[in-house]
Amino acid sequence: MDFDTNYRMTIGGDLVDAPASFAVLNPATRERIAEVPDAGKAQFAAAVSAARTAFKSWSLTPLAERQAAVHRIGQAIEANAESFVALLTREQGKPRPGAQWEILGAAHWCRAVAGQSLADEVLVDDGDRRVVTRRTPLGVVGAITPWNFPVLLSIWKIAPALVAGNTIIVKPSPFTPLCMLKLAELCREFLPPGVFSAVTGGDDLGKWMTAHPGIDKIAFTGHTETGKHVMRSAAGTLKRLTLELGGNDPAIVLPDVDPKAIAPQLFWASFQNNAQFCNATKRLYVHESIYDEVLAELVAYTKTVKVGNGADPDSMLGPIQNGPQYEKVCEYIDDCITQGYRFAGGGRVDRDAPGWFVPVTLVDNPPEDSRIVAEEPFGPVLPVLKWRDEADVVARANATRYGLGASVWGRDLDVVQRIAERLEAGTVWCNEIHQYSPDQPFGGHKESGLGCENALDGLAEYTNWQTLTLNVKPAF
Ligand code: NAD
Repeated sequence: MDFDTNYRMTIGGDLVDAPASFAVLNPATRERIAEVPDAGKAQFAAAVSAARTAFKSWSLTPLAERQAAVHRIGQAIEANAESFVALLTREQGKPRPGAQWEILGAAHWCRAVAGQSLADEVLVDDGDRRVVTRRTPLGVVGAITPWNFPVLLSIWKIAPALVAGNTIIVKPSPFTPLCMLKLAELCREFLPPGVFSAVTGGDDLGKWMTAHPGIDKIAFTGHTETGKHVMRSAAGTLKRLTLELGGNDPAIVLPDVDPKAIAPQLFWASFQNNAQFCNATKRLYVHESIYDEVLAELVAYTKTVKVGNGADPDSMLGPIQNGPQYEKVCEYIDDCITQGYRFAGGGRVDRDAPGWFVPVTLVDNPPEDSRIVAEEPFGPVLPVLKWRDEADVVARANATRYGLGASVWGRDLDVVQRIAERLEAGTVWCNEIHQYSPDQPFGGHKESGLGCENALDGLAEYTNWQTLTLNVKPAF
C-alpha cells in the first residue's frame, strides 16, 4: 500500500474523499506533506449510520472472532511498521526511536487486548434462582485523539472497543491524521464495513461527534478544557465517557540519589517526545542538598542530546508538532524572561529555524506560583525546584487541579513509598517512569480525567452492565 499519497477516509468500508480538504505539514520543515479530506456533516452522518448498521452484526460476532480481528490489526501494523514509522515521523515530528516505540507498541497493545475478555459473574445460583451480571457492548464509539501519540492513543480505544463488541469511528487530530487514515484503509481487508471508520476534519467534527445521538460513547484524549466541552456536549444524550486529559506531573527527588547517575533518567522523564507528553515530568522537585549538582548534571546531559529533524538518524528530540503549540511554548519562555527567571540551559528560540524547534530549556527554581510551574506548557521547558521538608514538597506536588501522574526517586524505599502513597495521581512511578502496560489501568485523578484506559477496568468502560435473573422453577 502507498503510504505517501492518497489519504482518504474510510466510511462504511469505502475509501472516501470530501468536497473540501486541509493541509498536513511536516513540523520539522513546515512544508505541506499531504491534503486530507475535511469531512462535511453529511459524511459524518453517513459514518455514524454505517457504524450503527455494522454494530448489529458485529455485536453478535463471537468474542473469539472479534479478538482475532483485533489481533489482525496488530499484525497489519507490524507488517507495515516501516511505513508507519516513517509516516509518523513525517507528520508528528518525533525521531525514529520514538516513532518505532509508538508503532510497535500499538501492535503489542492489539495482541494483548485481543487476549482480554470480561467474564460473566454469577451472583446467585441456588437451585431456585440464577442471577448473572454480564457485559454488553454500548453501540457506536466515537474516538477523539490528540497529536502527541496519534497511533498508540487511538489503538488504546480501537482495540478494547472492538473486542467488547462495539463499532468505532476515529477522529484523529487534524495535525496528525495520516497514520490513522492509512490504518483504517488497511483494516478494510479484514474488518467488516462500518466496524472501524476514520473521519478527518477540524475541531467542529469533534463537536458533531460529541453531540450526535447515534454515538453511544466518546473516548477522548486531549486538553482538560476540551474534555469539559466534550462532557457538556455529551450530556445531551448521556453518552458514556472516558476522558484522558492534561497533566502537570511532579517528580520528587530525594537527597540520597547519585546526581550524575540519575540525571539522564530525569532528563528523559521530562523531555521524552519533546515533552509533548501528558505524563512528562513537568515540575522537578530536587532536594536542596543535591539541587545544584543535579541541575549541573542535567545541563551537562542536555548538551549530549541533539534536537533536529526526526528523519535525521542522529536526532534525539524533534520539533514542536504544530504552529499553535510552538507559539504557546514560546510564550512560556517569554514569560520566564519577562519575570526575570534564570535559565540554566536553553531559553533562546531561533525563530528563523526551518521547523518549529525549541531548545531544551531548564528554568532554575522559579516561584511556585509562576506560570511555568502552575500550568501545562506541553513543550521542552522544565522548572527545576528546590525542596527541604517532606510534608511541604508533598503539599506542593498536590497543589494542582491535575492528577495524572507523578514519580518519586530515591534509595530509601520506605521514604519513596511513603511519599508515593500521598501523591494525588492516577499513576505514581517509583524509581522508574513511563512504564505502561495493557494490563495496568491508566487514568487521571481530579481534572486529569474520568475513567481509565487499559486493563480489564478499561475494557469494561466499553460495556454496559446487564443483570439477568432467572427463576428456575416458575410457578406457572
Ligand atoms: P486538544 O484538546 O486540543 O485536541 C484533542 C482532540 O480534540 C483533537 O482531535 C481535536 O480536534 C478535538 N477537539 C478540539 N475541540 C473539540 C471540541 N470542542 N469537541 C470535540 N473535540 C474537539 O488536545 P491536543 O492539543 O491535541 O493534545 C494535548 C493535550 O492532550 C494535553 O493537555 C495533554 O496532556 C493531553 N493528553 C492527555 C493524555 C492522557 O492520556 N491523559 C494523553 C495525551 C495527551
